[in-house]
Amino acid sequence: MIVTAHTQHPRRFETNRFVYPVLSRRSAGISVGVNLNPDKVCNFDCIYCQVDRTTQSETKFVGTQQLLAELEETLQLAARGELFQHEKFRNTPPELRRLNDIAFSGDGEPTTYKNFDEIITACADVKRRLGLDAVKMVLITNASMFHRQHVQRGLAILDQNNGEIWAKLEAGTAAYFQLVDRTPIPFQQILDNITAAAQVRPLVIQALFMQVHGQPPSQAELEAFCDRLTEIVAAGGTLKLIQVYTVARRPAESFVAPLEDAKVDAIVSLVRQRTGLAAQAFYGAAP
Ligand code: SF4
Repeated sequence: MIVTAHTQHPRRFETNRFVYPVLSRRSAGISVGVNLNPDKVCNFDCIYCQVDRTTQSETKFVGTQQLLAELEETLQLAARGELFQHEKFRNTPPELRRLNDIAFSGDGEPTTYKNFDEIITACADVKRRLGLDAVKMVLITNASMFHRQHVQRGLAILDQNNGEIWAKLEAGTAAYFQLVDRTPIPFQQILDNITAAAQVRPLVIQALFMQVHGQPPSQAELEAFCDRLTEIVAAGGTLKLIQVYTVARRPAESFVAPLEDAKVDAIVSLVRQRTGLAAQAFYGAAP
């Protein structure tokens, strides 16, 4: 009976307020996004941010019960394949018709949510109840809050539930960090937070590079970026993958533009050569 009911309502996720399924090229499958920042507030103001802050959000606060109900239903739609009946997902290639992860990202920095550890625990419970142990829980984060205790508790819950942390780092110097990420939080705090988290579990680093006023990052900046990665590893951190990507959708600032594929490839080669770490390229347009 439940299956029939769901089959009749494959569009229901469209009215969701906190949970949104996407076909993710980085995840090679369906990623079920959870938005913990419906108010669109972030503690960074990245020049390439793709969150539309020109319009006010309808929803200001996270409604926990509604979020969990939306998560359960969307996970079921994706896990049963009913999601692919929807026009938005009908053209999904067969190899991508898989549920990969729950991703905490959304319209701001997820770790700034005050009940971060509780919501991670509750979402992990939903995943477990549905028997989706193989589905990852991915935290997409700017790493600015890792030093807070309740965030560390949330990270530990992720570790116990097939979690993966994708921490962004896209500068080698404080000056470039300020140019790109525009935040009062010091660069060193971000580096310290990433190092401490990487000492506990392997991290994925997300590095978005772009043209700023027509200029790609300088060779010196890219080499400094590699040096920061090397320092994290030298301090006992494990970095399992460096994702190098560029702007794929409309950025916050008009002076930001994507890098050409060849430049993204060149950065990947530099990272591999200089750090010995695994690195992967993601280009400006979907492959
Ligand atoms: S950290 Fe993420 S959400 Fe916040 S401004 Fe930067 S890109 Fe946007």
